Amino acid sequence: MRNDRIVIKIGGSTGIDQNAVCDDIAEFVHSGAGVIVVHGGSDRANRLAESIGHRPVFLTSPTGHVSRYTDKETRDIFVRATDELNAEIVAALEARQVSPRALIHGASALWGERKLAIRSVEGGKTRVIRDDYSGRITGVDARQLETLLQEGFVPVLPPVARSEADGLLNVDGDRAAAAVAAAVEADQLIIISNVSGLLQHYPIEDSLVAHVTQEDLERAMGWAQGRMKRKVMSVKAALESGVRRVALADGRVAHPLRQALAGGGTWFD
Ligand code: ADP
Repeated sequence: MRNDRIVIKIGGSTGIDQNAVCDDIAEFVHSGAGVIVVHGGSDRANRLAESIGHRPVFLTSPTGHVSRYTDKETRDIFVRATDELNAEIVAALEARQVSPRALIHGASALWGERKLAIRSVEGGKTRVIRDDYSGRITGVDARQLETLLQEGFVPVLPPVARSEADGLLNVDGDRAAAAVAAAVEADQLIIISNVSGLLQHYPIEDSLVAHVTQEDLERAMGWAQGRMKRKVMSVKAALESGVRRVALADGRVAHPLRQALAGGGTWFD
């Protein structure tokens, strides 16, 4: 029988204890699980952009979704920031006797296509942005990931896809994790963030929702605000494409993954 296969998304916001996550990943890997890591980079990209005087700008779509305006320079900053984070995670895993494999740039396992026109609402008016280098994921190199897993490696992917026409693209990390989980037929996807899970009455921590079934997904979407909406959409996409169960887990605790597998956070199935 195939070993348990887990995709872990490490969020890019502040507050997540990356070392604690890597401790638990090492534990999983040493117990025989096949693990793939997908990470974010939003906070790192913001800080890098600020430090070189290229202030981050965010766009709001007519349906209320917020995304990073990614002109070419921002794309380069985003790639640099996520490369740095990727290298940190790789080093942290190596220090724990895990064999990671950085899938960046030409080795990326994600293919994407650039969003050619993004509608953005500013001061009540809708503007169309055409020079944006963010994209949607169009494919995953499942064969590459399978080979690496079979050889005992832990692939580590940034939220960057490559496109033949436009080079590297900024993609949503949760979407990337969902696409990867679907492509390798993962048993579980664990999305680690800086909240305890999905809160019914955000930001009241006591209102944590422990379990969401397929039938509750629409209601769950209603509880999610801002960036959490996109997370719940990614969860839905993962479940629809065959991932058995998905967790939104707390990355601020001592054993984020162990705790999630013991039932912590919000589980969707
Ligand atoms: P990451 O960078 O880890 O991918 P995001 O910052 O994009 O995470 O999304 C998680 C954030 O979503 C939380 O920090 C929280 O501020 C926000 N959020 C909005 N609505 C909710 C909700 N209902 N439950 C939990 N978090 C929510």
